[in-house]
Amino acid sequence: MTVSASIPTAKSRVLIAGATGFIGQFVARASLDAGRPTYALVRPGLAGCPSKSRALKSLHDKGAIILHGLITDRENMEKILKDHEIDIVISAVGGGNVLDQVALVEAIKAVGTVKRFLPSEFGHDVVRADPVEPGLQMYEDKRVIRRLIEEYRIPYNYICCNSIASWPYYDNKHPADVLPPLDHFKIYGDGTVKAYFVAGTDIGKFTMKIVDDVRAINKSVHFRPSSNFYNMNELASLWEKKIGRTLPRVTVTEEDLLAIAAENNIPESIVASFTHDIFIKGCQSSFSINGPDDVEVGTLYPDEAFRTLDECFDDFALELKDNNKDLGSNGNAAPNHVVESLALSAPCA
Ligand code: NDP
Repeated sequence: MTVSASIPTAKSRVLIAGATGFIGQFVARASLDAGRPTYALVRPGLAGCPSKSRALKSLHDKGAIILHGLITDRENMEKILKDHEIDIVISAVGGGNVLDQVALVEAIKAVGTVKRFLPSEFGHDVVRADPVEPGLQMYEDKRVIRRLIEEYRIPYNYICCNSIASWPYYDNKHPADVLPPLDHFKIYGDGTVKAYFVAGTDIGKFTMKIVDDVRAINKSVHFRPSSNFYNMNELASLWEKKIGRTLPRVTVTEEDLLAIAAENNIPESIVASFTHDIFIKGCQSSFSINGPDDVEVGTLYPDEAFRTLDECFDDFALELKDNNKDLGSNGNAAPNHVVESLALSAPCA
């Protein structure tokens, strides 16, 4: 017997909470590209934030239906789910708002018609990875939401997409917004521990394939594209190839990362604790994913290619050229002002 990959309702209605956020935008665009009726739930009061207003307009122009509300407002969420006959709910709220999802989960349970819920995960498998504090608290919060979903028997997926394709700055929660360095590399430990890097567009694309794939129901979906499995040393060499010169490498030791984490500056210390978990402890590949509750996305869609990290770094190099930045053909390492100005900017936060 052949198992059909998708529920027959090709036009499942999708509600995305946090659609103007960093990950949420990739997911919302992919949902629209897949031709699904897409509802973007946004918090009221975006007017003061030009980047979010632009993101909202762009989603609206692509056909998204904009709904205003908070996922903490259970009553309103129930109304939205019912009124718009939502089939699939995807939450991409930020790491500091994970527990806001409790009311959303309660609303999904009360309505009883949602066919799949994807809570805000989009990173590591939070029951297997074990970062130091303050990153651990975010994982504890994500574990609370997982337990509630399972207790209420809400059909779910946990998207474990690993790292977004970019230079993994240890102090920036959205590193893909920032170009790789032009002055020097910071290499974590000896630079030999590998991680998986996934383009934001692929996080969106594969998430939207999974949402009504019956083979993935109630599973953690792991993104492990073999073409994008790099350690820091390899990542640095790849970028050097793109810019046509070598850069000095500075070691950031395990102790350095732990000290930054211990400072408890949010969000930098959270990112440092994840960086330690990824590039010192190897949390992305330290376990196998052949259990009944896991599936690797490449095994579901073997004919669908991932964007390679090589291609993503080509994009960064193009962006540098577009910004008229000197790639350093004269051998002088120009300070990376793009990085300096953007590295810690949390837009409108
Ligand atoms: P952002 O902070 O960029 O965006 C979060 C969005 O959620 C915002 O649009 C925000 O609205 C909205 N939101 C927050 N609280 C509520 C609420 N109560 N009701 C309605 N909307 C709300 O989040 P990220 O994209 O950084 O994070 C999303 C997920 O992705 C997290 O789980 C995070 O851990 C993970 N992640 C993974 C990365 C990776 O490399 N794999 C990188 C970054 C994040 P508003 O615009 O009003 O603030």
